[in-house]
Amino acid sequence: MLADQDRIFTNLYGMHDRTLDGAKKRGHWDGTKDLIAKGRDWIIEEMKASGLRGRGGAGFPTGLKWSFMPKESDGRPAYLVVNADESEPGTCKDREIMRHDPHTLIEGCLIASFAMQAHACYIYIRGEYIREREALQAAIDEAYDAGLLGKNAAGSGWDFELFLHHGAGAYICGEETALLESLEGKKGMPRMKPPFPAGAGLYGCPTTVNNVESIAVVPTILRRGAEWFSSFGRDNNKGTKLFAVSGHVNNPCVVEEAMSISFEELIEKHCGGIRGGWDNLKAVIPGGSSVPCVRGEKMRDAIMDFDYLRGELGSGLGTAAVIVMDKDTDIIKAIWRLAKFYKHESCGQCTPCREGTGWMMRVMERLVKGEADEEEIDMLWDVTKQVEGHTICALGDAAAWPIQGLIRNFRDEIEDRIKAQKTGRLSAVAAE
Ligand code: NAD
Ligand code: SF4
Repeated sequence: MLADQDRIFTNLYGMHDRTLDGAKKRGHWDGTKDLIAKGRDWIIEEMKASGLRGRGGAGFPTGLKWSFMPKESDGRPAYLVVNADESEPGTCKDREIMRHDPHTLIEGCLIASFAMQAHACYIYIRGEYIREREALQAAIDEAYDAGLLGKNAAGSGWDFELFLHHGAGAYICGEETALLESLEGKKGMPRMKPPFPAGAGLYGCPTTVNNVESIAVVPTILRRGAEWFSSFGRDNNKGTKLFAVSGHVNNPCVVEEAMSISFEELIEKHCGGIRGGWDNLKAVIPGGSSVPCVRGEKMRDAIMDFDYLRGELGSGLGTAAVIVMDKDTDIIKAIWRLAKFYKHESCGQCTPCREGTGWMMRVMERLVKGEADEEEIDMLWDVTKQVEGHTICALGDAAAWPIQGLIRNFRDEIEDRIKAQKTGRLSAVAAE
């Protein structure tokens, strides 16, 4: 278990003072200008050496992403944009940072922006996060008043402005290029990539888009050293990580742990075990709603990191939003609910996603009731394959993968329901 002295988020549960005074007592804003004085190259090299992989879900190496920004200015301003549009079902970790530990994010914005030559940073916060934006804005105001932001920020010699921008409740605006469109005042629709934002991002200028947690860990990594951060986890899966555990555990929580912790340890130590015990575990979605579910019996010994969950279980760490489902769960209905969500949130600009999400949702609707023929399971699988990888942004994959996970892991349950419907035994099967 991660020791208390190795936690980056020291006020995750709001037990302490979140104001600037409280944050400083816990070590934030300590020697910020000395870190900046070490220079851009040093910061970027430390971030690469730390092994930090992006905490927004995709796991792209953060230091490498920063290194794509132009080294010399070509006359265009550079920007850092922090993606705080946390909307992936099950995911609520960034919310805790902004509520209770906002100064670690603000300090991270300054250091990361300096490393990428950005004099301005925008934090794009999910529209529904009203209390969080109030907490964050109060912390930004405090930082301005204390000279930590603005001209010669924190005495570093770097002029730096930080803006908080409110989203309006569209999931798709969490996709980085849709977010940039929205920030520019347009409809939030994803752009084709490439070009990636480092080449042409906000207003066509070099931009890096990073998740809240990725930026909030930066000051501590630099203060304590890349070696310290990379001492946690396994190769290619380094550091500490926030896990948001919800569903049928005795104590749902958001907790910081070492990457590559086992699922069993995570659940036993922090969540008081599975409701009804381990024999009652049916399925787990280990990384937010975009990744496929896994059968409970395969999860107990699972290692909670990018490579294990994808390589060994065909799922993913994603945002580390761990959704636990016990045997009372109607798994077909649970996945139908996700299909409905993705259909609702599709921006509609590409055909496989616009049409496919509706098609998949409607078949799922019938599978929930068992009102289908068994061949339709294969047909549904084929449709997911036509959507996956054939769309402008990752929402298409995100809509296809949960259904693929359902068919791969719980095909027997779908077939039983269809048979029960045909033979008039459906209520008995549903009650099992
Ligand atoms: P992606 O793999 O396309 O990109 C990840 C990041 O790496 C992006 O910033 C991208 O610009 C950069 N990148 C990737 N390849 C690059 C290259 N060749 N050159 C330069 N930069 C490159 O994934 P994505 O669409 O940004 O994210 C998908 C993930 O987002 C999903 O896996 C899901 O887990 C997650 N997600 C999270 C939330 C949330 O609320 N946090 C919501 C929806 C989805
Ligand atoms: Fe829009 Fe869906 Fe296409 Fe993404 S995949 S651009 S959400 S239609």
